[in-house]
Amino acid sequence: MSTAPIQFPPPVDSGKEFVGPPTDPEDERIEVGVAIVGGGPAGLACAIRLTQLLAEDETLLESLGEVPVALVEKGKGPGSHLLSGAMMKPSAMQKLFPDLPEEDWPTYGPVAKDTLYLLPNRKRAIPLKPTPPPFRNHGNHVTSVAQLGRWLAQQAEDAGVYILGETAGAQLLVDDGRVVGVHAVVAPKDRAAGISAAVSKVASGAAESTPYVMVTNLARTIDELKEREIWLIGADQGAERDLYAVKLDGPLAWVLGAEGEGMRRLTRERCDLLLRIPMSGSVESLNVSVASGVCLFEARRRRIARVE
Ligand SMILES: Cc1cc2nc3c(=O)[nH]c(=O)nc-3n(C[C@H](O)[C@H](O)[C@H](O)COP(=O)(O)OP(=O)(O)OC[C@H]3O[C@@H](n4cnc5c(N)ncnc54)[C@H](O)[C@@H]3O)c2cc1C
Repeated sequence: MSTAPIQFPPPVDSGKEFVGPPTDPEDERIEVGVAIVGGGPAGLACAIRLTQLLAEDETLLESLGEVPVALVEKGKGPGSHLLSGAMMKPSAMQKLFPDLPEEDWPTYGPVAKDTLYLLPNRKRAIPLKPTPPPFRNHGNHVTSVAQLGRWLAQQAEDAGVYILGETAGAQLLVDDGRVVGVHAVVAPKDRAAGISAAVSKVASGAAESTPYVMVTNLARTIDELKEREIWLIGADQGAERDLYAVKLDGPLAWVLGAEGEGMRRLTRERCDLLLRIPMSGSVESLNVSVASGVCLFEARRRRIARVE
């Protein structure tokens, strides 16, 4: 049986405490295309990579407005709240800055040799051979994560990212419930209709604004979502619990199968929770678009209800 962190939520009402409508007067707000919270290595790398991708797509860049990417950091500036970190694997830097020679990285250079010693007393130092894997750093770079943060921030600013220091992201701002919308639709490559001209027409614009991801192995994608602590809910007419009787908090991915036959067994078994849409009358199952609408709007209704 799998155990997910979402089963043990902290004792806070995140809906009320961390989600709210914009509070500042309209003329004091800065409209941004994408807001990244936190100027640590992850946020800064995200901002830099985003600007690289936007540089390849002028139309998308324009649609994001005057400030396409902004990053807020609660410390004085990126780097000022970064204390730990001494060894850095080179792979992320190589991917993010493929043309930058390693000598120009903000590091003290790569580790040429490493040995781990056990010090039983002041006089003896016993080398541990072979070096246990977590302590092997050969080829990794010695760095200060604060220095790395300051350098990444400079790269981000040079690429046009608007960095706001001493700004803490206190709440997720919700405007007409849109932030809690659907982030992406994932569908199997085989045995699925895909986005045809007819689908685009029926979607009335949503097909262009919602990422549609086709995957060859749905089960593996589900596992990857679970690793990212996304709670998988399967809509299954045979489930014991019903949609209106379960909590729909946190990041969710809905798994919907074909009308009638439902999900495949392997997919069903991977879900963290199965629930059914209560039906009255003689209709036993809904088609996938109606079922998705019912489930998504129920999740959305609960989130908006908590915000108000
Ligand atoms: C003692 C220690 C030693 C470590 N050693 C290593 C090592 O040798 N090698 C290694 O690779 N990793 C090491 N790590 C791990 C490494 O430091 C982290 O994995 C890395 O810093 C994570 O980066 P991050 O960007 O996700 O988050 P962080 O580095 O934590 O950055 C988050 C940033 O977001 C800001 N922030 C947070 N909340 C808000 C908010 N609400 N609004 C605005 N800003 C906000 C913070 O001020 C901070 O600047 C170590 C960690 C520790 C604790």
